[in-house]
Amino acid sequence: MLNQTMLYETQVLEGRQKIARVTARQLKNIPIQPPPFRDVPDKEGALLLQIETDDGVVGWSTSGYTHPIVVDLINKHITPRILGEDPFRTERIPMLFDRHTYERPLGRALVSALAMIDIALWDIKGKTVGRPVHHLLGGARDRVPVYVTHGAAYDGAPVYSAEELAAEAAHIASLGITHLKNTVGRQAVPDPDDDYRRMKAMREAVGPDVKLSMDGNLRMSIDQALRLCKLCEELDISILEEPIHYNEPANLAYLRTQTNIAIAAAENEKFSARDLLVAGAVDIIQPNVNNDGGYSAGLRTATLARAFNIPLGHGNGNGPHNIALHAGVANGGMVEYHFHKWMAYNAIFKQVPQPVAGGFLDVSQQPGLGLEPKDGLIEEYEVK
Ligand SMILES: [Mg+2]
Repeated sequence: MLNQTMLYETQVLEGRQKIARVTARQLKNIPIQPPPFRDVPDKEGALLLQIETDDGVVGWSTSGYTHPIVVDLINKHITPRILGEDPFRTERIPMLFDRHTYERPLGRALVSALAMIDIALWDIKGKTVGRPVHHLLGGARDRVPVYVTHGAAYDGAPVYSAEELAAEAAHIASLGITHLKNTVGRQAVPDPDDDYRRMKAMREAVGPDVKLSMDGNLRMSIDQALRLCKLCEELDISILEEPIHYNEPANLAYLRTQTNIAIAAAENEKFSARDLLVAGAVDIIQPNVNNDGGYSAGLRTATLARAFNIPLGHGNGNGPHNIALHAGVANGGMVEYHFHKWMAYNAIFKQVPQPVAGGFLDVSQQPGLGLEPKDGLIEEYEVK
């Protein structure tokens, strides 16, 4: 009997357009606007992928995983295999590498590299047919809700005191942002009581009308997460994201029965979206196109989640690249703008959708993604 899953490299008909050039680059030390109340120079790096077709269409993308191994992987190993391929055939490209995705430790780098390629190819598809990518994904809406994560809790940055956190929350809310998120569990040993005090300071600073959420980034035990939920319920917290080690589905499902705070996960995937959905582990599922397979994988997760009547959300620094998915599919949801990464996107790309009053982003109507790097950026910041 024919095994359909083994049809990796069968003959295909010639496409109309071909991938002609693929260039991955590492950028470093790009100056960005520092967070409010921290008037110190701030810099950020990024990986940037450029794919050009034989008829002159150029697609761009970035990665959620910024280790330079992704650059080498694309330039030395992936590019020779995909040159000459048709950029519209985005289900075919990862099939050329499927067998390698099981080879750890290459796993995360390869998945990130294939996600970058997928995103740039969807940019090319949109530019080729003259339509924004969210239309190609289904075109459910032209405006998506946004929430802003702040608190300088990215790697290497000093952790804010509760007072600084509260002052920054009030400032960002005053810009018209209606939903804020802060990271929790970041103490040497996660401390729910300390996090409760920090979230309470935020709630008192912004009042009852701004929504507040928390992101545990996989750092807590089930007991720590339970205590945090119990303490924070009186603060009217909307969402707790990825509280528990490894996103263990059984633990998340149990936590969900013990709290009225919505549980979200899947940005950092060890267990698949399928496992989380089947276990009843989440109220919101969070594919991230930059970490996991691009828009092609995002579409699959959206379809799967719809069968469980679970909406999508987003939790990661790559907000501007995730807008098209949430605008495209019917069960799309909120996009995250992580303050630091938001400023990095503003420094790297010419036109980045900015939050408007009421807490929304207007989706780019440009052909493709509408995310074009600034002139001179590559020449100035590329690591040679
Ligand atoms: Mg997160």
